[in-house]
Amino acid sequence: MKKLKVILLVFGGLIITYFGVKTFRGISVVDKLTELRTDHFVISYQGIYKEEAQDIADNLEENYDRIRTNLNDPDHDTIRVFVHPVQAAFNKGTGLLNSNANGVSRGPNEFHLLWTNWFNSIFPNDPVKTAIHEFTHCVQLNILIKEEYKKWRDADNGDFDKMFEEKFIKEYPQWFWEAICDYEARIVNSISVKYGMKKNLTLKDLNNSNQIYNVGFTIIEYIVEKWGKDKLPILITSYVDIKTVLGVSESDFEKGWVTFVDEKY
Ligand SMILES: [Zn+2]
Repeated sequence: MKKLKVILLVFGGLIITYFGVKTFRGISVVDKLTELRTDHFVISYQGIYKEEAQDIADNLEENYDRIRTNLNDPDHDTIRVFVHPVQAAFNKGTGLLNSNANGVSRGPNEFHLLWTNWFNSIFPNDPVKTAIHEFTHCVQLNILIKEEYKKWRDADNGDFDKMFEEKFIKEYPQWFWEAICDYEARIVNSISVKYGMKKNLTLKDLNNSNQIYNVGFTIIEYIVEKWGKDKLPILITSYVDIKTVLGVSESDFEKGWVTFVDEKY
């Protein structure tokens, strides 16, 4: 009986603390829309602490040169970052209805982010890593658009935006689009990798599966360890032509990757 009382007291205490901290956070965060400008980003935020926005800014700037050099990004305009405090605000700000996404890129120069924490998510992830992930989407788009624009300008025909969007959706593999972002943001843990690999998914399957977020890091890690990181920018501009760039068939590539993961994880 005494034990039960103690458990109830501890449990009750935790609940009171949780709601206490949640309430305190609610009244102490920055409540009006605020802008934080850095060398390469303009971060708009509301409903989070100034230090949290600063944390995003510092990490983005710290990774800015590394990722752009790795992927061979040409000139890149200032990137606008919108940080939302809760899912409803994220969905409203992005126009995504009933979404449970916590990040989305909008072209090469804009992305949105949900500042996940224990008060707005069941299993919060690291929002700073999400910011790096979304930034890497912007880098990929900037490379692809600038590359395509050169060809389009020389040929001088049609609506560029429409043509690019159609080509991107049709030809750029979704698995690579996500995997390289998780790789640059260092989003990986061995439990999720093992879980994802059990499903025996092919690269084609991963184009339409959330498992890409569990195993994506390892695909790029395999490419970098076996062929070197210089292949990454070439893969991007070739729309991930594995056969030409890496000199192996897609099925041999998949087999090699599975063996690599088996040995390493
Ligand atoms: Zn993504």
